[in-house]
Amino acid sequence: MEWSRHLLRAVFTGSTRNKLLLISFDGFRYDYDRITETPNLDEMAQDGVKAAYVTPAFITITSPSHFTMLTGRHIENHGVIHNMWFDTATQQKKQYYEAQFVDSFWDNGSLPIWITAQRQGLKAGSLHFPGTAATYKGETVSMREVEPPFYDYSNETNWRLNVDKVIGEWFNQQDLDFVSLYFGEPDLAGHSYGPDSPEVREMVQQVDRTIGYIRGKIQDHGLTDRLNIIITSDHGMNTILQGGIVEKIILSKIPGFSFRDIQFQLLDYGPVGMLLPKEGKLEKVYQALKGSHPNLHVYKKEDVPARLHYSNHPLLLPIILIADPGYVVNGLLPLHNNKGDHGFDNEAMDMKSFFRAVGPDFQKNLLVHPFDMVDVYPLMCNLLGIDPEVNDGHLDNTKHMLFPKKDTGDKVLPERNIQKEVVTGFSAAIGCLALVFVISTSYNMWKRNKA
Ligand SMILES: [Zn+2]
Repeated sequence: MEWSRHLLRAVFTGSTRNKLLLISFDGFRYDYDRITETPNLDEMAQDGVKAAYVTPAFITITSPSHFTMLTGRHIENHGVIHNMWFDTATQQKKQYYEAQFVDSFWDNGSLPIWITAQRQGLKAGSLHFPGTAATYKGETVSMREVEPPFYDYSNETNWRLNVDKVIGEWFNQQDLDFVSLYFGEPDLAGHSYGPDSPEVREMVQQVDRTIGYIRGKIQDHGLTDRLNIIITSDHGMNTILQGGIVEKIILSKIPGFSFRDIQFQLLDYGPVGMLLPKEGKLEKVYQALKGSHPNLHVYKKEDVPARLHYSNHPLLLPIILIADPGYVVNGLLPLHNNKGDHGFDNEAMDMKSFFRAVGPDFQKNLLVHPFDMVDVYPLMCNLLGIDPEVNDGHLDNTKHMLFPKKDTGDKVLPERNIQKEVVTGFSAAIGCLALVFVISTSYNMWKRNKA
């Protein structure tokens, strides 16, 4: 039985480490719980911790930001600098999905928390989370599911099957310690219809129903007292300005700028663009673009503001373009007509992510100040009782969410657990003996009566 395994581990190893589920809902802006009814999110806030918001890493896009969650490193330090893999020599590019399978794209010096947990004896899993498919220093996350090509990221039935797998099979049957679980919405609805649309409100309701479903499944499997849940997101969503009065940023129309001076470009991907000018053309390209549009910031790579941590990596191209909220960077022509987008400066409120946590180690009904995405990693390592890798986060920014822990030398020993579990286990054992006595007595009586 599950409780007895847990009890034995608690008694013989002295460890009462609780399990941890990290969930990401892509593009869930910090304030989406205010645009519609969210009864399950509200209940979770009462039962646990809610942050005002989380500041994601810059560039505020999916793969880089999720890898910050998994490593606690700024993007210039972990090296997953974009959703797209590219090679400036061959001009080759791979989009988000294809890049999932390029090991060198992900295994760039920083180890995701799955591998660190596994090296320290824990069992880890990941479902659809960016980075799941890759091999890191010869090792993969041991239980994993990568979505097939053209997967429907929005289908609620798929979502429930995924939850059943993670809670019922991975945590309950396989006894995993840590799982990361990814959902592709409300990001897609935000891009197509804009963050203020009825479609986004509906998708937020679907997220809310799913959170209720997840907590129900955890309850059904008797895991509520042993499983911590963190729910967060990689970035927010901003409305892209449309209509005749808006002067779009289109590089081909900028006087003095020519694509003939460019060896390689990453453009038409939201508000951030990167350029590699041809030999000797850097200054010409920079001068042509600088000041060319009031809502376009043009930087030489080394001059990107230090607070963005998007400067010091060899994969970043020499010229970096960042548009203000409301605008995107177009190359030849405006190719995309997204009503919503992200990727902007992480100081823009529309880029802030949400954060909720509930479980045996988290305080109840607690609203906490904002913190940075890099601070989630040391929190997760603390919950799992593992030694973190070098990272850019600070446990001091998040540890006040947790119940104070007794200093026993064991990093993961919450005050109440062992005693409670020994008592519970002892009562359960007494209960079992009593039950056996009652059953055998009744059986003997029944046998005697029958005879
Ligand atoms: Zn995303």
